[in-house]
Amino acid sequence: MSTQKFSTAALHAGHDVTINGGTRAVPIYQSTSYVFKNSDHAADLFSLAEPGFIYTRINNPTNDILEQRLAAIEGGIAAVVTASGTAATNTALLTLLKAGDHIVSSNSLYGGTYNLFKNTLPRLGITTSFVDPSDPANFSKAAKENTRVFFAESIGNPKLDVLDLKGISKEAKAFKVPFIVDNTVATPYLLNPIEHGADIVIHSLTKYINGNGTALGGAIIDAGKFDWANGKFPEFTEPSPGYHGLVYTEALEEAAFIGKVRIEGLRDHGAALSPFNAFQIIQGLETLKVRIKEHSKNALELAKWLQEQDAVEWVNYPGLESSKYHKLAQEYLKKGQSGLLTFGVKGGYEAAKTVVDEAKVFSLLANIGDTKSLIIHPASTTHQQLTEEEQASTGVTPDLIRLSVGLEDIEDLKADLNEAFSKIKKKDLV
Ligand SMILES: *Cc1c(COP(=O)(O)O)cnc(C)c1O
Repeated sequence: MSTQKFSTAALHAGHDVTINGGTRAVPIYQSTSYVFKNSDHAADLFSLAEPGFIYTRINNPTNDILEQRLAAIEGGIAAVVTASGTAATNTALLTLLKAGDHIVSSNSLYGGTYNLFKNTLPRLGITTSFVDPSDPANFSKAAKENTRVFFAESIGNPKLDVLDLKGISKEAKAFKVPFIVDNTVATPYLLNPIEHGADIVIHSLTKYINGNGTALGGAIIDAGKFDWANGKFPEFTEPSPGYHGLVYTEALEEAAFIGKVRIEGLRDHGAALSPFNAFQIIQGLETLKVRIKEHSKNALELAKWLQEQDAVEWVNYPGLESSKYHKLAQEYLKKGQSGLLTFGVKGGYEAAKTVVDEAKVFSLLANIGDTKSLIIHPASTTHQQLTEEEQASTGVTPDLIRLSVGLEDIEDLKADLNEAFSKIKKKDLV
């Protein structure tokens, strides 16, 4: 485990320049496979007697450096990178769960994750109870004998509720199940969920970590603290038929979970990250700290400005004193509250659509965490498939606009929205 601080680890962890040809930048190892020294060496790699590279679906030297950096900056023992954030969630869960198992999840979720839990995993016999995460006790109340995971987002997208990590982690520990936290919106610079009791951290690297909208990626980071031998996870303590009788807790000890993610999860589900994308994400990670501070600063200033605009009904940003989550933000997000904010416009659904259509500096698209400012109307797009009741539980109302505040000059962002607001009035929507 790296003992370096965030800023140093984000730039250096995992990259030994003496074995990578002296390259200062991390090279792209664009190779599917690796030549074994001889058949004994090959056998040792396959039996895990020796560490090394076998095939890029399982591991790759470029990806390995990104994995070491992410583990270092999240305070985990190891990480596995995946083709997308969705692949990270899916691979983590399918490594842990089987038909008949049950998840208790926060209802304040990224739309894709909500759909995975609500519609797709049930086809495999894995069901989910959604709970309001604002009271940690709701997790235990919904837990059943077959519950194997508690899942939540540290800052819910798009509700922007800040999670009581310590409270929920206590409930998970009492129930002896791992607590998985999607930390995409907060980023490891602003928050390390493992410090507050998370067992596994998920990231969409597509967002702030890559940071400029050029590469999809995901990561699973293991705190290495969960007791897989507590009786609820026999797949970790009994010989694995999928890996020649390996007993994960004996062979890999505290790395039992993350090891299984790699050698069974990546092997069988195949959601490996391209080394080219890993390279791009490494470039992004190098500047995460400076970017996320600036994103947070711009978002706070814009949130304050929006509160004073006639066209605006309400503003939700965890950094605002008026936010329901301000107290939790002060506890968990002391360095900044990230770049997402939501607000409601007077005139509801139609007025909100007008604003997203009229904004010019803000790009209308479905992504977050880009250096460029982004805007979307979730009720007509990302959350369109949900019923109005489901929309409400995920925090989406008809008048809600979500901004991912970029790094442009704040005055240009204000002017752009001001212009868009004037169009609502012209159309007589209020
Ligand atoms: C985008 C996102 C995901 C999914 O990540 P992809 O890389 O798009 O698959 C998961 N969780 C959150 C919070 C996200 O914002």
